[in-house]
Amino acid sequence: MKNKIIPYAQPYIKREEMKSVLQVLKSGWLTSGKVVEKFENNFKDYLGCANAVAVSSATAALHISLILNNIGKGDEVITSPFTFASTANVIELVGATTVFCDIDYKTLNIDVNEIKNKITNKTKAIIVVHFAGIPCNIVAIKQIAERYKIKVIEDAAHALGSEINSRKIGSDSEFAAFSFYPIKNITAAEGGMLITNEPVLGERIKILRWYGLSEAVWSRKKSDKLYDSVVLTPGYKYNMTDIQAAIGIEQLKKLNNFNKIRADYAKIYIEELSNIEGIELHIPNMNNIINSWHLFVIRINKKIIGFSRDEFCFELKKRNIGSSYHYKSLHLHPYYKQKYSFFDNSFPNAFQASQEVISLPLYPKMKRKDIFTVIKAIKNICHITK
Ligand SMILES: *Cc1c(COP(=O)(O)O)cnc(C)c1O
Repeated sequence: MKNKIIPYAQPYIKREEMKSVLQVLKSGWLTSGKVVEKFENNFKDYLGCANAVAVSSATAALHISLILNNIGKGDEVITSPFTFASTANVIELVGATTVFCDIDYKTLNIDVNEIKNKITNKTKAIIVVHFAGIPCNIVAIKQIAERYKIKVIEDAAHALGSEINSRKIGSDSEFAAFSFYPIKNITAAEGGMLITNEPVLGERIKILRWYGLSEAVWSRKKSDKLYDSVVLTPGYKYNMTDIQAAIGIEQLKKLNNFNKIRADYAKIYIEELSNIEGIELHIPNMNNIINSWHLFVIRINKKIIGFSRDEFCFELKKRNIGSSYHYKSLHLHPYYKQKYSFFDNSFPNAFQASQEVISLPLYPKMKRKDIFTVIKAIKNICHITK
């Protein structure tokens, strides 16, 4: 028992998911079919949005969002550099220019006051990221977008279950992308969901995710017509399989409970870690929001603690505790740094956060006592430096 490792994240799969997957495997229909349709409907009902289209990943969902808006060469898309690679990669993939906008020091979300300075007559869209589950100020962002006639695409990979002003993230989005990667708030092994509130676009997404064909194979089973699918546009292979959807359906049923456990554990972290000198908790004070608690982020002040972030993570590892960090700002990655000639300090807040953040273990599969083990280790590390 003594050497048990507490990983920083883990999926939580139980008998229900296994049973559902087995049913699909036995059914003879493995790829996209009625189970995917059911997952989409359940997801749509959960969010209360007009369209939810299942795809192979959040990356695919973000990519399709740009394609739907005809964004390409010569266009500019504004986004946060403090995010996962795919948020900006999709902008590059369609041939557009990535325009990073620094983050707010406290929320680690895009700095709304900076956005206007980044808008030019080439700006077509802004991709916002609800970092760690803390919603961006989407009302203010939408106002700016309307004034300048640009699209708002939400990378909601962290924000399943998050709310702002009693509205779920994604419920009234122009475009929102969710992820079911194994360590997200729910998983489907892999997969994503693209939300749009325009029914016409919902149909276009279905064509783009399935080779660009006019009719999905699945629909053949539902009508008496012969299957006669034709190429409408060169499309992608971005569909979700029924095997994945079977997992997703069971996980979605558990989402509220999963997020409740995350919130409970986060509360313990906050109570126990609030008064440690040199550790700052990422808990922006916004009383009109519900946080999905996708990540529990602390910031290390090297000058006070005596350890750098990496050294601190190593100390945790020595005590059998996993950790990770989100993120190394994208402007520091070779591709972006070279292409756009960025300096470390091109985005000062994102640069500073990149050196300070640690994501602590937080997931529903974790035992309550594991939280206290992590807390004890952190206090122990801080103590030895004094
Ligand atoms: C996980 C993640 C993605 C990518 O999700 P996939 O489903 O793996 O493509 C994109 N953006 C953010 C912020 C993420 O955390």
